[in-house]
Amino acid sequence: PPDVDALGRSTWTFLHALSAAYPPAATAAQQAEMRQFLALFARLYPCWPCAEDFRAWMGRGGNAPRVEGREGLGRWMCEAHNEVNRKLGKREFECARWEERWRTGGGM
Ligand code: FAD
Repeated sequence: PPDVDALGRSTWTFLHALSAAYPPAATAAQQAEMRQFLALFARLYPCWPCAEDFRAWMGRGGNAPRVEGREGLGRWMCEAHNEVNRKLGKREFECARWEERWRTGGGM
């Protein structure tokens, strides 16, 4: 079975890179694609308890993906990641620094 930590690190890199590459203002079609991608991702992520908790979090009031544009999606992804950080007893990431970490900066 995959190593849950290695899988998680790689997947967060992918998910934050995906947010960083998202258009500042997404078209209706791009928003629909991203919504579908995230719903499928949350069903298929190959750590089943992780996926189940992630789906439950996404389904709770106020936690639906914000797909209007890069800024909202990046913040949402950071909040999703922080939810897992909290669950695992890790430090929360300061979401104001999301772009610096994943788009404009040289890594942190
Ligand atoms: P990671 O948490 O993998 O983070 C990688 C890097 O991202 C960090 O070094 C930091 O620079 C940056 N970062 C940290 N927080 C944020 C943030 N909020 N926003 C932006 N950047 C940030 N593991 C479990 O054991 N149980 C679970 O239920 C579980 N659920 C998961 C659900 C999903 C959807 C994913 C993708 C992963 C899940 N994981 C789970 C894995 C877990 O989140 C970590 O990836 C793993 O524990 C390795 O942690 P890490 O400390 O190396 O850093």
